[in-house]
Amino acid sequence: MTLQESVWSETESPRIQSYTLTNFRNLPQIQKLSEEQQFEMEVVANVLPFKANNYVIEQLIDWNNIPNDPIFVLTFPQKEMLLPPHYEQMASALKSGADKKAIQELANEIRLQLNPHPAGQLELNVPTLKDGTKLYGMQHKYNETCLFFPSQSQTCHAYCTFCFRWPQFVGMDEMKFAMNEGEQLVQYLREHQEISDVLFTGGDPMIMKAKMFRTYIDTLLEADLPNLKTIRIGTKALAYWPYKFLTDDDADETLATFEEVTNKGLHLAFMAHFNHHKELSTGAVKAAIKRVRETGSEIRTQSPLLAHINDDADMWAEMWRQQVQLGCIPYYMFVVRDTGAQHYFGIPLVKAHEIFRNAYKQVSGLGRTVKGPSMSATPGKVLVDGVATINGKKIIVLKFLQGRNPDWVSKSFFAEFDESAIWLDDLKPAFEEKFFFEDELEQKYSGARKLEKSS
Ligand SMILES: *Cc1c(COP(=O)(O)O)cnc(C)c1O
Ligand code: SF4
Repeated sequence: MTLQESVWSETESPRIQSYTLTNFRNLPQIQKLSEEQQFEMEVVANVLPFKANNYVIEQLIDWNNIPNDPIFVLTFPQKEMLLPPHYEQMASALKSGADKKAIQELANEIRLQLNPHPAGQLELNVPTLKDGTKLYGMQHKYNETCLFFPSQSQTCHAYCTFCFRWPQFVGMDEMKFAMNEGEQLVQYLREHQEISDVLFTGGDPMIMKAKMFRTYIDTLLEADLPNLKTIRIGTKALAYWPYKFLTDDDADETLATFEEVTNKGLHLAFMAHFNHHKELSTGAVKAAIKRVRETGSEIRTQSPLLAHINDDADMWAEMWRQQVQLGCIPYYMFVVRDTGAQHYFGIPLVKAHEIFRNAYKQVSGLGRTVKGPSMSATPGKVLVDGVATINGKKIIVLKFLQGRNPDWVSKSFFAEFDESAIWLDDLKPAFEEKFFFEDELEQKYSGARKLEKSS
């Protein structure tokens, strides 16, 4: 399909309808699948989060291409997302008619084996105000940017089956929020002049009603913080529910709030999550991108590289080309994290780089703003920069894009070539005993795991 083919008009203004474990069998598209397939989904959805909606189902998924359709795999549970023993356990519990409580207990037992908190995500990055108040709704890992999790944005318009935030959605992570989060954020920014960027995240902050969102933004803008230059919004709403910016009751107010930010002279960086060019294909998403851009916001795009969904260089090249055509800036390609269904989605680092390179070399310089493939690991964001041979020894070249110590940024380091490694802690240093940052990392976080994983 060419970009010009689908056009959105105001008469297309659906209300969101969610489909989850409790009602997905009502969908006519699902009823066409065999009972066995429907049961498989039910088994998986009793362990991992599952939510789709009418836009995803009617406009993004190609129901003639089941089970291989990438958006189907992205949003609907697949049998192999659970390891065989876990699948069998849950399947037999359901078949034996176990009660709700027993199912829930088994689900939690399985979830705890899926590395729900890679790298002590909860404790390692919790910032503190000078008066000792802990800010559980925030993370401050890299100097310039702090993450803000508004309490009203702990869900999404649909769930991605690979999402590393899955424990939040099944009620395992009870995030503790303060009553006055907005003011605490301002106070923290006053105490940390090095912060220039605040990143609203979640779940999806664009699930918030505009009134709520505006309250946070106004609190930030009214504080007149000289260090605050950029407000980032990390969201998948363009891909999962573009009507948020078109015809929802609060669409205009949402866009007006973006405009307040840009009128104040701050940058509004809209960090859009797109996993596949199919998500760019509808008239609605194109119209929504246009409206967001008309507020003076800049849209940057990011996605993990995922087996069964987008492990295809030509797909990435096409996605980046379309994004550039639509006025979006390709920003990050991520390596999928070591949690949840990583065994299903994971791609070895060497192959990930190969896919990246084969896509990158196909696009013009305007698409080569993308950085990747990168791992958000405990020491920092680590780029897999390539494979090289030095004095006859094959190695993997890595580089810090972000570091727990800012001085690590842009430093390269080298690991032994390993075709099956899928995460930083699978790698061994090529020329030394330890990677250059390991001792310092351990000192910084004594008591924390050795080469911890993501966060
Ligand atoms: C990626 C990331 C950021 C932002 O990094 P940029 O390279 O500036 O986009 C901030 N905090 C955390 C925890 C991150 O993972
Ligand atoms: S939209 Fe983002 S936070 Fe929500 S499920 Fe997908 S990846 Fe996770």
